[in-house]
Amino acid sequence: MAIKFPHVDMEGARALLVDIDNTLYHYDPCHAAALQACWEMFRREESAPPGEEEAFKQAYRRHRDAVTRRLHPQGACRSRLLAFQGYFEEGGYAAPYARALAYDRLYWESFIDVMEPEKGAQELLARAKEGGLKVVAVTDMVAAVQFRKIVALGFSSVIDFIATSEEAGAEKPSPLIFNLALEKTGAAASEAVMVGDSEEKDIAGARALGLRAYRVLHEG
Ligand SMILES: [Mg+2]
Repeated sequence: MAIKFPHVDMEGARALLVDIDNTLYHYDPCHAAALQACWEMFRREESAPPGEEEAFKQAYRRHRDAVTRRLHPQGACRSRLLAFQGYFEEGGYAAPYARALAYDRLYWESFIDVMEPEKGAQELLARAKEGGLKVVAVTDMVAAVQFRKIVALGFSSVIDFIATSEEAGAEKPSPLIFNLALEKTGAAASEAVMVGDSEEKDIAGARALGLRAYRVLHEG
């Protein structure tokens, strides 16, 4: 699957705000590989029968959703560490936090191994730099993970700043996170352009503050 970028008009703009997940790279194959690696470690270390794979993955999802419901709109609502902690607590495992730590590490290592930068994103970011725009990634997630992704994608030379929901205290489409991003660049909303994949979070959130916004489309 490719991510199709529309033509983004940066005329007169001083800042480009860009979403990370499903905009700079395609999320689904990374998540699938990451969760698979976690299942394989679980099967090995806990001697789980192969038939438990679906139950393991569904239970993980249930704990992820519970963390999201409890902590939304804070950045930590996306935490895999807390989801794995819930899983191992519920199962009555010893030192559930230690297991959660190992699974969270494996999850993100495996995820980042599979992640590849989208060609359209590389072109967009290169154009923004050529045009002298400040570039800031605006993203719902814990900071440490999103910082790692940008570095691993090879975008640290073209993305000047990152504004996460962990840092802002609220997820998109909250104005808190867009205003935090704008502050980092020194640009006014009318001088900034937003690019992302979510109509509700990226496009509506940015337009509500007066930014120009462009949506990328998932194809194939
Ligand atoms: Mg996204």
